[in-house]
Amino acid sequence: MPPASSPQLLNDTLAELSLGERIGLVSRQFDRAVFTTSLGLEDQLITSLVAEHGRAIQVVTLQTGRLFPETLELLETTEQRYGLTITRFEPDTDDVETYVDRYGLNGFYESIEARKACCHARKVVPLAKALEGAEAWITGLRRDQSDNRKAIPFAEWDGARGLMKLNPLADVTSNDLKALIAESDVPTNPLHARGYPSIGCEPCTRAIKPGEPERAGRWWWEQESSQECGLHPDAPPTSNTTQPILES
Ligand code: SF4
Repeated sequence: MPPASSPQLLNDTLAELSLGERIGLVSRQFDRAVFTTSLGLEDQLITSLVAEHGRAIQVVTLQTGRLFPETLELLETTEQRYGLTITRFEPDTDDVETYVDRYGLNGFYESIEARKACCHARKVVPLAKALEGAEAWITGLRRDQSDNRKAIPFAEWDGARGLMKLNPLADVTSNDLKALIAESDVPTNPLHARGYPSIGCEPCTRAIKPGEPERAGRWWWEQESSQECGLHPDAPPTSNTTQPILES
């Protein structure tokens, strides 16, 4: 058995470690740990840590078909920089056609139902495939990204997926993150410098204004309470939760 097999114990252990040590521990502790990157600042930092401390961790991305050209270019740059493969998981063609037939290609602007249907086809289903057989799922979630995330732990049991969900940057503030990125040679998306702190699909992401929360540019036409895409939970979980964890 691994030394820290319960979510609470693992959570407490991770809290005492440096970022690199956290990735190293996860790499050793789980036979198959999957890191899902959307190429944001958090994810780029984790990718650099995986390259240095945990190359056994599988790095994957959800290739939704609606990403910014800058994000796609960064994907290639990152693989070359770190000499690793970032596995692409794409939506099922039939699922996308069914969504488009029912709601229209950009129907997500018209209703939350349509938006969630698009995210389901392009993100949730591919994520499920990416996590098949995984023991652990590593994300770049941080507590100060939004009110919905202010209580996220370092480790939590995802009962719906039957794996440990790990948030190694949970306690990293936005300022800390920028400082870590600035002092490293981590490649980043040029859109960040144009007012996009959080970057998702191109039609669903806009630049934010000074003073706005960093995720204000994601699904900006919706109420804040619905601004998650189904990969992560709407409400903050606890470190020993057995509730299903559903975001990015
Ligand atoms: Fe579709 Fe927008 Fe969700 Fe991307 S973020 S999957 S384009 S609704």
